[in-house]
Amino acid sequence: MALLTRPLLLLSRSGKVKQLVSTMPVSAGIVRSYVPGETTEAVVDATAALVEDGIRVTLDFLGEDTLDTEQADATVAAYLDVLEQLSARGLTRSAEVSVKLSAIGQALPDDAGYGGGHKIALENARTICRAARNAGTTVTLDMEDHTTTDSTLAILRELRKDFPETGAVLQAYLHRTEADCRALAYEGSRVRLCKGAYNEPEEVAFQSDLDVDRSYVRCLKVLMAGQGYPMIATHDPRLIEIASSLASRYGREQGSYEFQMLYGIRPEEQRRLVRAGERVRVYIPYGQEWYGYLMRRLAERPQNLTFFLRSLVSKK
Ligand SMILES: Cc1cc2nc3c(=O)[nH]c(=O)nc-3n(C[C@H](O)[C@H](O)[C@H](O)COP(=O)(O)OP(=O)(O)OC[C@H]3O[C@@H](n4cnc5c(N)ncnc54)[C@H](O)[C@@H]3O)c2cc1C
Repeated sequence: MALLTRPLLLLSRSGKVKQLVSTMPVSAGIVRSYVPGETTEAVVDATAALVEDGIRVTLDFLGEDTLDTEQADATVAAYLDVLEQLSARGLTRSAEVSVKLSAIGQALPDDAGYGGGHKIALENARTICRAARNAGTTVTLDMEDHTTTDSTLAILRELRKDFPETGAVLQAYLHRTEADCRALAYEGSRVRLCKGAYNEPEEVAFQSDLDVDRSYVRCLKVLMAGQGYPMIATHDPRLIEIASSLASRYGREQGSYEFQMLYGIRPEEQRRLVRAGERVRVYIPYGQEWYGYLMRRLAERPQNLTFFLRSLVSKK
């Protein structure tokens, strides 16, 4: 399975393959299952449908590793547009946005240390946080590959001075994450815990599924025992069960934490949790750059290929 990772990543960069994949009916079906649309209108409609079912939403305008400032500005504009439309439809109580800092300038060349891309991403993120605050909602900063973790957490600290509601994401596969959880488990701190979706080296990340899962549980204990607001982002039935029992163990009421899943993955489980009184939020990616998102689900980590194929066969 691991042998497939590199070819899939290479294929994901090919415009020709993208064209081919987009024109195959089965793939169009796949795209529709995981990305509800390319436009703001399409994603706001998808949001409204989920909110109707008692599910909260976080929206991600697709596009990362922006290498020019115009593209970064266009991404910021897309976020401002979607926040305005969510507000106009009365959806901002239930819908927030997730932002990849590399899509708003973090990956731009650095001139000096933390200058350049880091500063541009901070200012752009500030603009989005201000618009979200005005619309009555929040922003969560997605976490990307490990080379960006320090910069992303530094930007988070800066943003939280003015926007303490800004959410963080931590990845259980990184060795450092348990310590990062301790640092972020303070009152009012919203922290999404996921396994991690990038292909990371063994110097920084656990490599086996078992070690990642064990780390997830250790991190979850820290977050559940802490004063913050844990956002449990996983489709893993065992981890969901463990999260529920940790909530009881630490005397957490439903609504003092939430479960998060990706759009199109285990929709029945999302609804089951809602029926059980849990708070559930679905992450919806949208925009024209859907191809890379889909290929990453296949390529980033070998187990995601199984995960993706299983979802094609059974929409649970
Ligand atoms: C809301 C959200 C936000 C995220 N944000 C980030 C981010 O900012 N940065 C980042 O690096 N990653 C992010 N991720 C991705 C994450 O890191 C994982 O790559 C991805 O969620 C898959 O991990 P998993 O925990 O679901 O477990 P996996 O190990 O992939 O799968 C877990 C188990 O879930 C079960 N399962 C999965 N799918 C199905 C299915 N369709 N039917 C039945 N059972 C199934 C199976 O038992 C499987 O073994 C995010 C994920 C979510 C849900």
